[in-house]
Amino acid sequence: MTELVVISGKGGTGKTTVAGSLVALAKGAVAADCDVDAANLHLILRGEPLERVPYRGSEEALIDQEKCVSCGACRRVCRFDAVLVVGNRYEIDPLSCEGCGACAHVCPAGAIRMEERQSGWIYVSRTPYGILVHGELLPGEENSGKLVTQVKMRARMIAGKEGAALLIVDGSPGIGCPVIASLSGAHAALIVAEPSRAALHDLLRVAGVARHFRAKLFLVLNKADLSPKLAREVGEAAAQEGMVCLGEIPYDEGVTWAQLRGLPVVETHGPAATAIREIWEKLRKGLYGEGRGCG
Ligand code: SF4
Ligand code: SF4
Repeated sequence: MTELVVISGKGGTGKTTVAGSLVALAKGAVAADCDVDAANLHLILRGEPLERVPYRGSEEALIDQEKCVSCGACRRVCRFDAVLVVGNRYEIDPLSCEGCGACAHVCPAGAIRMEERQSGWIYVSRTPYGILVHGELLPGEENSGKLVTQVKMRARMIAGKEGAALLIVDGSPGIGCPVIASLSGAHAALIVAEPSRAALHDLLRVAGVARHFRAKLFLVLNKADLSPKLAREVGEAAAQEGMVCLGEIPYDEGVTWAQLRGLPVVETHGPAATAIREIWEKLRKGLYGEGRGCG
């Protein structure tokens, strides 16, 4: 099974638009939305939920009042002011507890235990194009790299069971921990960039991360016609970095029209849809054979 991750140096480049259309064109691929801070691939792919599994990504401290000797050591060591004194009892404020475990370490009575707590959900959905897995963090929860890893693991397991030839991952934007988790184990990365100087900088940074995982690198330039000169510069720089340019997507108001109706762009007939279909044909060849450079 080939694992393709669609990424971008920053949010708002059209990454999910491209990923959703590739899933629709691939027919039978398993999809994973690893943009867990703002998952929306399920909106484009019209997923019908099959399963919802709690994601436990953090811990919280709990005090056993029977054992507590009210020494106050936990309150003194907690840097997050999560230990409260209520009457004559020491209690943990679950909203403030960061799960660092310092209180349990210093408690002389062994009265504090750490317990996993739910930090989000992992959803499995059936879409008209195949199975989709996506994650969602509960408000205020962090550690999304760990959730990304769990979303990917579940998607890989399903892809293996279904005998899918391709897993398409909508990766996290940027270059932080979630995008590193998105790229881990990927065979190929498709970078979606827009023609701007900032995009060139972001593109080179995210390409560096993808290269670390030895992923084959592809580039798609979105809204390329808004600045043909910069599009050419970005394409040339990408080619020098060894990326395979799959093509350009023109600015097309039909993309917004499709998004508002919860449709992959390739279900419409505008210039962006045509460009993405051509990109998909090149990508299929590029994943398994030779591609040509940008510029
Ligand atoms: S686990 Fe850390 S944050 Fe939570 S109460 Fe204990 S010391 Fe404070
Ligand atoms: S450190 Fe342990 S014994 Fe001391 S107040 Fe906290 S929970 Fe109670």
